[in-house]
Amino acid sequence: MSTPAKVRRTVEEHRAAVTALLAGCSPGTEEVPVAAAAGRVLAEDVVAAVGLPVFTNSAMDGYAARWSDVGAATDGAPVRLPVAEDVPAGRTDVPALAPGTVHRIMTGAPVPDGADVVVPVEATDGGTDRVTITSSPAAGSFLRHAGEDIAAGSLALPAGTVLGPAQLGLAASVGRASVVVRRRPRVLVLSTGSELVAPGEPLRPGQIHESNSLVLAAAVDAAGGEARTLHFVPDDVDQFLSTVRGALADADLLITSGGVSMGAYEVVKDALGALGTVQFLAVAMQPGGPQGAGTVDGVPVVTLPGNPVSSFVSFEVFVRPALRAALGVPRPDRPRLPARLAGPLTSPAGRRQFLRGRLDGGTVELVGGAGSHLVASLARSDVLVVVPEEVTELPAGSEVEVVLVGGGER
Ligand code: AMP
Ligand code: MG
Repeated sequence: MSTPAKVRRTVEEHRAAVTALLAGCSPGTEEVPVAAAAGRVLAEDVVAAVGLPVFTNSAMDGYAARWSDVGAATDGAPVRLPVAEDVPAGRTDVPALAPGTVHRIMTGAPVPDGADVVVPVEATDGGTDRVTITSSPAAGSFLRHAGEDIAAGSLALPAGTVLGPAQLGLAASVGRASVVVRRRPRVLVLSTGSELVAPGEPLRPGQIHESNSLVLAAAVDAAGGEARTLHFVPDDVDQFLSTVRGALADADLLITSGGVSMGAYEVVKDALGALGTVQFLAVAMQPGGPQGAGTVDGVPVVTLPGNPVSSFVSFEVFVRPALRAALGVPRPDRPRLPARLAGPLTSPAGRRQFLRGRLDGGTVELVGGAGSHLVASLARSDVLVVVPEEVTELPAGSEVEVVLVGGGER
């Protein structure tokens, strides 16, 4: 039987509880090719085996020269010099520059010893045997100096870095073919509800398409976990427990959806409440008030409410930051920004509200209402608008904090 939740927590209290629960759920490290490391969390410090640039090279297509030879060139008094060498990118045997000569040089090619300026081809006649130079940049121009970006032996990427495209590029640039990353926590996702039918199947009266497991699995993967979705179960305690127990063996975390509120047939609460290792409670927030967290057979479990918006928001507020903290990401939270409300809003006293919004410039427009069933509005949103517990109404133009959760781009 369901019992009314007796415990009431603040958002921060439940967040801290979930973070502590998940702290140990990151299962070690593995070495992967850099090409396969996008989105992973670095588990080692990557030290630059070479400096960058690796060697002093040209920033322009032009002529490597001695400034003392070319610095005075003008349209009226051009400088004519012999072109001693042709230096394309990739040439490995570049001779030093003799006084009174230039090397034709391409972007990225090694600058010869003795050169202290690159004259861009646009300031010349482009000659290949002799070149006429009609102006010169300042001494030292268009040289990319060895090590000016990063010195050999210095820290390129610290452990905890989330490897996006630019970070992968740096790892490759300093010569890494593989990196040691955190293993992705294996996260089971299980939806509950006797009304649920797989998308693509016809609906009988009273039935709906199951969607939370897709949302949660995608959110787990995006947070750095590896989701495995179990086939949803009806509101049947035995079926729920046997499904969970049949799958826990190689899981680091279980996330359930539905069956945790105050009604009858609250399957998750009924099944896990009896174990004594999962606590069900109310969090002072909207949506997503009913929550639960604990362990099943030693595996951490977070039980999210079934309303689709509640389930999404609860994942964002509690599970995502906890998972990322467990992975060692130094800033596990989504970025937050101040924004101006396009219109007024009201909010219940005593609960932190997370409304769905669309950010445009510095202004946020609410999409849909507070209803936690409004999945179309959720899909149009890209931020959560945070309304503090004590605030009950705000006029248009008020400053609010928004959390950038990302959304469908358009
Ligand atoms: P519950 O938390 O189980 O009481 O469910 C609350 C509401 O969310 C009900 O309207 C359910 O039909 C709906 N719901 C629960 N689970 C899902 C799911 N997996 N996919 C879509 N809607 C759901
Ligand atoms: Mg249900």
